[in-house]
Amino acid sequence: MTTTTVKTLKNYIGGKWIESKSDKTDEVVNPATGEVIAHVPLSSSEDVDYAVQVAQEAFEEWKEVAVPKRARILFKYQQLLVDNWDELAGLITLENGKNLTEAKGEVQRGIENVEFAAGAPTLMMGDNLPSIATDLESGVYRYPIGVIGGITPFNFPMMVPCWMFPMAIATGNTFILKPSERTPLLANRLAELLEEAGLPKGVFNIVHGAHDVVNGILDHKKIAAISFVGSQPVAEYVYKRGTDNLKRVQALAGAKNHSIVLQDANLENAATQILNAAFGSAGERCMAASVVTVEESIADEFVANLVQKANEITIGNGVDEGIFLGPVIREQHKERTLQYIEAGKKAGATLIRDGRDDTAAMEKGYYVGPTIFDHVTTEMQIWQDEIFAPVLSVIRVKNLDAAIDVSNESNFANGACIYTRDGGSVRRFREKIHAGMLGVNLGVPAPMAFFPFSGWKDSFYGDLHANGKDGVEFYTRKKVVTTRWV
Ligand code: NAD
Repeated sequence: MTTTTVKTLKNYIGGKWIESKSDKTDEVVNPATGEVIAHVPLSSSEDVDYAVQVAQEAFEEWKEVAVPKRARILFKYQQLLVDNWDELAGLITLENGKNLTEAKGEVQRGIENVEFAAGAPTLMMGDNLPSIATDLESGVYRYPIGVIGGITPFNFPMMVPCWMFPMAIATGNTFILKPSERTPLLANRLAELLEEAGLPKGVFNIVHGAHDVVNGILDHKKIAAISFVGSQPVAEYVYKRGTDNLKRVQALAGAKNHSIVLQDANLENAATQILNAAFGSAGERCMAASVVTVEESIADEFVANLVQKANEITIGNGVDEGIFLGPVIREQHKERTLQYIEAGKKAGATLIRDGRDDTAAMEKGYYVGPTIFDHVTTEMQIWQDEIFAPVLSVIRVKNLDAAIDVSNESNFANGACIYTRDGGSVRRFREKIHAGMLGVNLGVPAPMAFFPFSGWKDSFYGDLHANGKDGVEFYTRKKVVTTRWV
């Protein structure tokens, strides 16, 4: 198809839509069809410089705006997001590929973050002790830190930016978002709605692009803190370079989430939950269930149920009614997934459901059907790496302790789930597992906005996580005032 009529996105700086100073662009593709839907500018560090200058100027005024007034803008914004729910979900499906129901759920998660951030007047309160000695008192006061840079991945174009900017701006900072260059459309709509909600110019800005913008943010002296969400190698890079430049950095990274199924579990519930968690959003979730460790005594029965359920999954364009599994994000990502499937076979895992058979005849879009390997071991690359696609590995284990050992061998430690009816097993799992977000008899234990998103090990670099009280801490700094009343 011809792409000449497709628009090139603009950056949003100081309340204006402006062209990037760079003439480099990338194609934004609808992964369900392969069609080019926009061009995204690959902005330069010069664009970042300008955005920082504008955001720094805006910060001087914004930080002085009373916290309840800032919160009121977020209340208005929340209503606008609710009013535009369907349109936002449609944009997510268009650029990301997940089905409309999942996209609507993502919008909900974004809205919940705005609701949480609108509690800033309470969340920003300090503490005090009126009597630290005779006539002496001390109190903690909380302040914003300045210009924040946010760098986000393709898999949640709405939710992940909403982990960052609502709280950052509610606490008085100004913000520069660098959305994923693969899913940049939704971000622009978020900016339009912020403007409609009455956010002053320069408080929220967008610089589109890829690594040049990221490096511009990492190296800019006037950026105080960076929130990053993305793959492990980039998270590590961002954390190291950002902290080397003496910035506050939180970097949420990749994952390999294990689900443990014990013989006493409600196996029907476990299979349904695991199927949804493994193949929902095409496996492109940082909380996706990508490994199931199942007790040997029930493994045959359980695996057969998984395959039967996977056979019922509908595959196609997520805008169509009844579709469960959409495409992966790009052709290149599909190719990489197919290489993993070959690697799994070569390494000796048993390919019990080959998703390539479902999609071989599909002419357009980047589809991979639900794929399941049995008899996987921890020496295999398909167990070690984050594949980030609809590929599920099954490991058979003797008991709970062996399952915990398998999970704890992974370098990643985002989430882990257990399926059992036994309280003692739940407690043992909770105490022994090395992972930051745990689920009991459910598939995707992604914490809501008021709890921290708490990955461990190579799934997170930093001290303060996104969301919850950690988010408030991350975007604020404190003064402790000691007073003698004479
Ligand atoms: P990615 O690392 O490719 O990209 C993330 C961001 O980093 C993008 O904005 C991208 O432009 C930028 N980037 C990419 N390569 C870069 C480089 N070489 N130098 C500088 N910047 C670079 O991640 P993705 O593929 O967009 O997203 C999927 C990944 O994100 C998965 O690994 C997933 O687990 C992870 N993720 C983690 C969480 C979490 O909470 N831990 C949440 C969502 C996604």
